[in-house]
Amino acid sequence: MTKKIAIIVEHNAGELKPIIYELLSMAQKIMTLEECKITLFIIGEGIDKLSQSISIETGHDIYAVHTPGFLKYNGSLYKEIFSKLFTKKKFDYICAPHSTSGMDYAPALSVALQSVCISSVEDVLVEDGKIYFFRSMFGEKLSAKFVNGPNPLVMTIQPGSFKPFFPKKEKTGKAKTGAITRMVYKCNENTMVFTGSKVSPCKSSELDKADVIVSGGRGIGEAQNYKYIEMLAKLFPRSATGASRPICDYGWVKYSKQVGITGTFVSPKLYIACGISGSNQHVEGIKNSKFIVAINSDRQAPVFQIADVCIVEDAIEFIRLFVKKFKKEKLITQGLEKAAIKASARMKN
Ligand code: FAD
Repeated sequence: MTKKIAIIVEHNAGELKPIIYELLSMAQKIMTLEECKITLFIIGEGIDKLSQSISIETGHDIYAVHTPGFLKYNGSLYKEIFSKLFTKKKFDYICAPHSTSGMDYAPALSVALQSVCISSVEDVLVEDGKIYFFRSMFGEKLSAKFVNGPNPLVMTIQPGSFKPFFPKKEKTGKAKTGAITRMVYKCNENTMVFTGSKVSPCKSSELDKADVIVSGGRGIGEAQNYKYIEMLAKLFPRSATGASRPICDYGWVKYSKQVGITGTFVSPKLYIACGISGSNQHVEGIKNSKFIVAINSDRQAPVFQIADVCIVEDAIEFIRLFVKKFKKEKLITQGLEKAAIKASARMKN
């Protein structure tokens, strides 16, 4: 029997969020085992053009729910509309991005449908003829595999986990266009109202330009120890310092230093991760680095799976000794260079 997958399309005031291609990629993985029909759902104001281009691009049918007066994401509205829609229209899988909005409406939707929600899905595994949904837990210390529960299964998909799938590029010949079902939803007067958003004043330009980035994570222990991260970075020309999210949350460093999916995506020649476990959200942001060195006291730390050089040590102790040794060697080298110059000058005379 053909299964039904609903994919929720998110947009920013009419601008498509590219995560849709990762959701389509995840659906492709389910379809390696089960025959499925994909239907897309979009909510908002002025979404005619966008719905049309998505139906052409993907070839999937799309339900476009027009909400006059609501240009941007509105939590109570999404919950209200999706609960009504998915109570009427039965789906096996309802997939949303693990975005700030997806995290908000997806669990509420599963409650309204008396179903379950698996949040932050990172992979779909097909084993022994069964489908499992994978996600890591407790800062990557545990990996969990979930099986499908009562229908529909609501899921949020972790950004960066699935290689984007572009249906048009994959198809040969003329791709079919999906049907558009246009609906207008009269919003409840009590619906929460969006009053505006502000762009963060933080800039991450130094991380974008650096050849070498030294980042510190929770493993550095305390805010004062960040000076060792700066000390190590100073040894390299064109360098910058970065951080994992928790130490930005603690206020040890500014958010402009955060590296990862909700911080800055970096691609330096050398990335040095100090006391960073290697969560999916951090690794996604550094995987384009040319060379990765990781210093971690736990030899099982996931960061070692992607590192080119793995140093199992106390990060602060290692940096202290390394900087000391580096400076000493540099003095010796400089001393030798000076002596060589003097000697060659003497020989010329
Ligand atoms: P931990 O996971 O606590 O790891 C600390 C590491 O330090 C451990 O591996 C430990 O073995 C090691 N350690 C302990 N003591 C020492 C020592 N003395 N010397 C050396 N090593 C030591 N995180 C990001 O970084 N960037 C993001 O953009 C980001 N976005 C996120 C978005 C969402 C939606 C969510 C849910 C999470 C996001 N996170 C992000 C958080 C992410 O899931 C992890 O919690 C975070 O990356 C972990 O940071 P950490 O490695 O510093 O800390």
